Amino acid sequence: KRKQIAIYGKGGIGKSTTTSNLSAALSDIGYSVMQIGCDPKNDSTTTLHKGKAIPTVLDTVRSRSNDFDKVIHEGYNGVQCVEAGGPEPGVGCAGRGIIAAIELLDTNGIIDDYDPDIVIYDVLGDVVCGGFAIPIRQGIAEQVYTVTSSDYMAIYAVNNLFKGILKYSGSGGALLGGIIGNSIKRIAQKDMIDDFSDKTGTNVIEYIPRSSTVTQCELDGVTTIEGAPDSQQAQIYRDLAQKIVDNKQKYIPKPFDADDLSDWASTWINRILTEEKVSSRGIQKE
Ligand code: ADP
Ligand code: SF4
Ligand code: MG
Repeated sequence: KRKQIAIYGKGGIGKSTTTSNLSAALSDIGYSVMQIGCDPKNDSTTTLHKGKAIPTVLDTVRSRSNDFDKVIHEGYNGVQCVEAGGPEPGVGCAGRGIIAAIELLDTNGIIDDYDPDIVIYDVLGDVVCGGFAIPIRQGIAEQVYTVTSSDYMAIYAVNNLFKGILKYSGSGGALLGGIIGNSIKRIAQKDMIDDFSDKTGTNVIEYIPRSSTVTQCELDGVTTIEGAPDSQQAQIYRDLAQKIVDNKQKYIPKPFDADDLSDWASTWINRILTEEKVSSRGIQKE
C-alpha cells in the first residue's frame, strides 16, 4: 500500500533539506519515492538533481502543454521529483501551484500511473492559506510531519499548523505523524521541543543536529545521503527514514492558545540563555 506524507514548517527551517535526504535514504532502502515540492521557492528537489532546477507544474499548465509527464523528473537513485511552482513575485496567489499540482497529479491519476511506494509533499507554511492546507484538508496525506527548530517563530508556525490539523481532524483530514527537530545544537533546545510535544499531546520522531556536512553537500548540489553517505549525519537521515516507514501513530494535536504559547516560551528562555553562556560565552574563536 502506498504511503503519502506531508512535511510542513516555516520557510528556511530545513524542510527541503530534510525531505530530500529522506527521499534519498528511502530510495537507498529500496522504495520508489515521489517528492512533490509545494513551495513557491521551487527548490525542494534541487539537491536530488546536482543542484539544477526543474520546470514546475504551473509552468507546464501555463504553457498549455498537455505533456504532463514532463513535470516528473527523475533525480538521485530514481527519485521522482516534482515542483508545484508559484506565482511571479508580486503577482497572484501563492497557493495556486499546490492546487494545480494536486489536481494534476492526484486527481488525474498521474501518481497512480507512476505508482510510487511513498509520496512526500514538502509544503511551506503554517496553514494560514487555503492552498497550503489542501494536503491536510482533503486527507491526501496519511500523516503530517513538521520540521522545527527551537526558535519561537518556528514553534509558533508549528502551533498554527496544529490548529489547522485539529480543525480538519473531524472531517477526514490528515493527522500528525510527528515532529522533526532540526538544527539542534544544545540539550536545552531539544528539551524545549520535547516539552512542546508533551504539552500539545504529540511526539518527536527524530532530532537532527546542525551540521556543516549538510552545508558542504548543499554547496556541492547534493544531499548528505549522496555526498557524505558515511557521515553520522547521513546515518541520522537513514534512521529518520526507517522510523517514518514504521510509524503508524496519528496524533490529533492540542495546540496552545496564542497567549499561552508565548507564556510557555518565556519559561524556556532563561534555561536556553544560561546554557549558551556556559557553553560558549557568546561568539568565540573555536
Ligand atoms: P526550507 O525548505 O524549510 O525553506 P531548506 O531545507 O532550504 O529550508 O534549508 C534552509 C537552509 O538551512 C539551507 O541552506 C540548508 O542547507 C540549511 N540547513 C537545513 N538543515 C540543516 C542542518 N541540519 N544542518 C545544517 N544546515 C541545515
Ligand atoms: Fe491562493 Fe487561497 Fe492561498 Fe490566497 S488563500 S494565496 S487565494 S490559495
Ligand atoms: Mg524548501
